Amino acid sequence: MKVIFLGPPGVGKGTVATRVKDKLGIIQISTGDILREEVKKESDLGKKAKEYMDEGQLVPDEIVIKIIKRRVQKEDAREGFILDGFPRTIPQAEALEGEIEIDKVINFEAPEEVIIKRLSGRRVCSECGAIYHIKNIPPKKEGVCDKCGGELIQRDDDKPEAIKERLEVYKEQTEPLIDFYKKRNLLVTVDADQELNKIIEDTLKVLKSIE
Ligand code: AMP
Repeated sequence: MKVIFLGPPGVGKGTVATRVKDKLGIIQISTGDILREEVKKESDLGKKAKEYMDEGQLVPDEIVIKIIKRRVQKEDAREGFILDGFPRTIPQAEALEGEIEIDKVINFEAPEEVIIKRLSGRRVCSECGAIYHIKNIPPKKEGVCDKCGGELIQRDDDKPEAIKERLEVYKEQTEPLIDFYKKRNLLVTVDADQELNKIIEDTLKVLKSIE
């Protein structure tokens, strides 16, 4: 099963992907996570990507396309995957089309005010990347990851200025993908303005219909 999770930053794509992947026996491929790993390692790629990420801008297409092409070839991707945060532009979607066949694209929808609240309250584990929210998904102990005990931090790009920029970038560059996949009859919409468990349930319903 090869699926794409589409939607604005903060809508919950990553959170839902982490909760459904094991139930389906597939992996989650997040370009954001891969890029953040490179930034942490201070690799050449990471240094270049950081300039864009801190500003809330997209990393150039040729870089992320190369990352994805390499990642989907790996052994652990054989049973299938959820692409979380890729593609984000039409050229990325076109490059993907030439490479692999996608079964479904789930478009997660929620009003902008909900998204802004989710982004500004999001906290992530600095060690394992687990996602929390100060109100909606709080950790058992404030500031500490339930899974690994790592410190919870706010991403630089979850701060107000970067949030504004990222939402604009989404509207300009990523939203056109909704039509792109509608035309290919691959798009299914999931209402992401619901309780997390209900979003997960609706997502699983769509994904199980593929098998
Ligand atoms: P995310 O964790 O998906 O919100 O991604 C964090 C940041 O990584 C984005 O704001 C972009 O700067 C960069 N990024 C992630 N995925 C992509 C992509 N498909 N194309 C370009 N930039 C990306």
